[in-house]
Amino acid sequence: MKQPLDLTVMMYHYVRDPGDSAEAGSGITGMSVRDFESQLDQLSQKHTFISWADLRAALQGEKSLPASPCLLTFDDGVRDHYLNVFRILRRRNLSGLFFVLNRIDTGGLVLAHKIHFLLAKLGLNQLREELWEQLNDAQRQRFTAAEKGYQFKYPSTSEDAHINLLKAVVQRDLSNEVDPLLGILFEVHIGSEMETARNYYLNLEQMHEMSEGGMHFGGHSSSHPWFDWIDAEARAAEIRASAELLQKIESGPWAFAFPYGGLAEDAPQILKAHGFVAAFTTKTHVQHMDPFLIGRLDGEEIVQNGYGYA
Ligand SMILES: [Zn+2]
Repeated sequence: MKQPLDLTVMMYHYVRDPGDSAEAGSGITGMSVRDFESQLDQLSQKHTFISWADLRAALQGEKSLPASPCLLTFDDGVRDHYLNVFRILRRRNLSGLFFVLNRIDTGGLVLAHKIHFLLAKLGLNQLREELWEQLNDAQRQRFTAAEKGYQFKYPSTSEDAHINLLKAVVQRDLSNEVDPLLGILFEVHIGSEMETARNYYLNLEQMHEMSEGGMHFGGHSSSHPWFDWIDAEARAAEIRASAELLQKIESGPWAFAFPYGGLAEDAPQILKAHGFVAAFTTKTHVQHMDPFLIGRLDGEEIVQNGYGYA
């Protein structure tokens, strides 16, 4: 980019109310439908909403964006986006960009979502204890060492900090070993993981309906790994899986969102080779110098803490 791109990009995950069909008794909380709608009202007062098609055209030099543009993005392809978000956006004549996981052949829940279910069901201490029981001695040693490293990095004692600490260890250092172990805990405490996943992620039919209703889709990998924690070959496989899914939904070029916002230096090259022209992070800037490093603001965090930007 020759000039920085001024663009506010909002990022959302769960949009649900307790007991609605997206939450489905899981106990996993999200941004309430009411908070989401009132945030859209607030954003509309100072921004003009744009679609992925508008941004793509601007990135390719085909057209310019309106003043104070805002793009709405939604991560992880969860059912909330069909059940709650789609109807709200359609009623307001807005378009969203939905970063979906390719779970079509894989089935099951990604690690991050298994943790959400188990944390909601067991709480932090019981989950940590039961997971510990499942680890062998070598894994326990690595667990403890990793935990110490992150404690040093994030030295806070709040409940949230403890949850983030467990997530860091489990989603990075021990992700390969812990994933099947959490699968076992899931079956014990919650039920069939496959059945849950089938009702948890958007299916192709829903994505097609959303696409016909003016929504756009982007890639978010297949297994939701930290990109700096896997090798180049695995990154290419994750990106290829996204391209294969998107080909079934809408024509490219597409956008990508890095799982957990994790970055790897070679990712833009791999993305370009697979038909992607932009990538979104979890960095919170609203001026972007690089189309493969577009920052976003977390809508739910803003509800809790207010707007941290001018
Ligand atoms: Zn994600």
